[in-house]
Amino acid sequence: AAKKAGHNNVAAYERIMEDRVVRRAEVEMALKTAIREQSIVPYYQPVMDLKTGKVHGFEALARWKTGPSQYVAPSDFIEFAESAGLIVPLSESLLKQACLDALHWPDSVRLAFNISPTQFSDRQLGLRIMSILSETGYPPQRLEIEITETAIIHDVAAAANILRDLREAGIRLALDDFGTGYSNLSQLSQFQFDKIKIDRSFVINSDRDSKCADIVRGIMGLSQGLGLATTAEGIEDSGQLAFLKDLGCDFGQGYLFGKGLPADQALALLLRNEEFPIIQSSVA
Ligand code: C2E
Ligand code: MG
Ligand code: MG
Ligand code: MG
Repeated sequence: AAKKAGHNNVAAYERIMEDRVVRRAEVEMALKTAIREQSIVPYYQPVMDLKTGKVHGFEALARWKTGPSQYVAPSDFIEFAESAGLIVPLSESLLKQACLDALHWPDSVRLAFNISPTQFSDRQLGLRIMSILSETGYPPQRLEIEITETAIIHDVAAAANILRDLREAGIRLALDDFGTGYSNLSQLSQFQFDKIKIDRSFVINSDRDSKCADIVRGIMGLSQGLGLATTAEGIEDSGQLAFLKDLGCDFGQGYLFGKGLPADQALALLLRNEEFPIIQSSVA
């Protein structure tokens, strides 16, 4: 009986694995179709200039539209796209769409675009980005590429070459989710960045956890010492905003200002040209 049960277990296991392989193949097919039909689109989250209260730029965030008002978040498909070898066509499609959308924005408004860790093993990455810019006519000076720390660690020499080429073309570079990876300080000394984005986990807790507040202060000091611009991610309330503003943080992003918007709504927001009230908590 024990032997039979063991046999059944193996059969059940094989069935599950088979299901998984089939399921993976199905998702891969769906993803390929979605890329081809451009049902994965960029949404745009405003990045505010904390000095003026105006929109400084937008970060493009991928959304897979699966129904009229249904979409899948990038955490549920970016990694899959990487492992399925589909991140290159996906990213190309998104950047193309984003450049075409951003061409309608005023010259001063920047487009920020995320590049995945695995894309840095592609030596053509720089060329691919440059050819999309020339194809769409989007000026490199208005593009900012966001890179996480882990993105760079895999192949330092290759990443250094790609980053240098992008920078020479006039594209800005931002170190994303700063403080979450390891050896982030060494990344800062090895590569030339224009901006640091403070990870939202520190920002969100900055008003209830004094350690997080200290970390935010430390990152701000580091960033200012290196002469870099700083964006705080994940600002959700006015207390956090006041704290960051007091520290001299240049830019802010988060649900307090707005979530990612479809292209037409991002454009409408720019055309309204409103000023977000930026309150400072203390008199300097
Ligand atoms: P990220 O680059 O750090 O993007 C910021 C994420 O934080 C976004 O999640 C955004 O919706 C979320 N967020 C913004 N403000 C707040 C806030 O106030 N509170 C909270 N709780 N969350 C906030 P999203 O859109 O789910 O993106 C997750 C990650 O997926 C991004 O992190 C980025 O690393 C990656 N990603 C998004 N789009 C792309 C893309 O086109 N290509 C690649 N390679 N990665 C992408
Ligand atoms: Mg980002
Ligand atoms: Mg980020
Ligand atoms: Mg983050």
